[in-house]
Amino acid sequence: MAVVGLYTIGLALNTPDLDPTLQILYLTIAVLAFTFVVLSFTRMRRGIRIGAYTAPKVLSVVKCGQCSFKQIKNFALGDFVFKTLGKCTQCTTGDLSIHGIYTEGPPKK
Ligand SMILES: [Zn+2]
Repeated sequence: MAVVGLYTIGLALNTPDLDPTLQILYLTIAVLAFTFVVLSFTRMRRGIRIGAYTAPKVLSVVKCGQCSFKQIKNFALGDFVFKTLGKCTQCTTGDLSIHGIYTEGPPKK
């Protein structure tokens, strides 16, 4: 349904000489499709357990090459393993680099 929504929005926006009433019709279909998607999602969340659908956290492990400084930070776009992030804030001589990227799944009970 999300695809239908996107498709109709795309159609409505990519056809400038389209009949305005048709354009409104397409947008209505798109809105209805999205509403359906949102509704089914909230139903799914309620059906299972709240929090079960939280997206896994992506974390980057930052380490200093000189001292034992280690930091876990939130993954940022463009982060990759061995990427250097500048000087270490602890010893100011070592280079900080990303040593690993991992995902943290939803908390287990
Ligand atoms: Zn250091």
